[in-house]
Amino acid sequence: MEGYADLHVHTNFSDSVYSPEEVLIHAKEAGLAAVGICDHDSIGGVQEALELEDKYGVEVVPGIELSTELKNMEVHMLGYFYDWKDKHFQALLKTIQEVRVWRAELMVVKLQNLGFNISFEEVINETGSGAVGRPHIARLMLKKRYIKDYQEAFDKYLKFGMPAYVGKYEMHPKDAIAQITKLKGIPVVAHMKYSEMSQAEFEELLNAGLKGIEVYHTMHGPEENKKYMDVANKYGLIVTGGSDSHGPDEQVGSVKVQYSVSVERLKAERKSILFGSR
Ligand SMILES: [Zn+2]
Ligand SMILES: [Zn+2]
Repeated sequence: MEGYADLHVHTNFSDSVYSPEEVLIHAKEAGLAAVGICDHDSIGGVQEALELEDKYGVEVVPGIELSTELKNMEVHMLGYFYDWKDKHFQALLKTIQEVRVWRAELMVVKLQNLGFNISFEEVINETGSGAVGRPHIARLMLKKRYIKDYQEAFDKYLKFGMPAYVGKYEMHPKDAIAQITKLKGIPVVAHMKYSEMSQAEFEELLNAGLKGIEVYHTMHGPEENKKYMDVANKYGLIVTGGSDSHGPDEQVGSVKVQYSVSVERLKAERKSILFGSR
């Protein structure tokens, strides 16, 4: 099939300001043939978007983005065309979400102890239907003028090593790969610019079943595009890319890949997982 796909888009089921329907509206406006819904630890956006697929004439690629940690470095693992309806997986996501809420509550308590007049209810009001997290706490702190800009909330209070930081549910990238593989999906490592790993570490992920790499991303420049394309070629990985849209700042479709290159290869991979390759 011809056309383009943005394979990394969030909805308000995680931390975007767009609902799944708004994502599809923007995808249609951008002329995309397909859009990959990759919410953090949630499949709600996939479900809702799939129901609207025909209305907007944009194909929805079911995805997920799992946060993992490798030696204190964050690695985000994308999964595509997996069995998103699986009950065990939904239970796991529920646990991850519960830990996330607990973590946010604890960070609010720490901020209260530091003298800030912030309640957990106020933070929840910032989240809409999405999963509560540090961005919402930061937005509230900005609204209350406790900080000058959004980033200051992280730099002074919320990031690792700062006084209101609370650790999170930890998953190794290999666990995420195993999880997606178990669901007959295709694991793809996201925006590697943020997770500089050694060749040995990367090869460990390949041995664990990594199938693709997000070469194109909003935060990747020409240098990264080339670097990760070389990695993809070296190991024969599926090449994906996307805007990582969380709203108008990284608009849906602002980063896109060719449908025939990325989506069709993902689909072929899924087919061979389900039916075996000949
Ligand atoms: Zn990410
Ligand atoms: Zn993302």
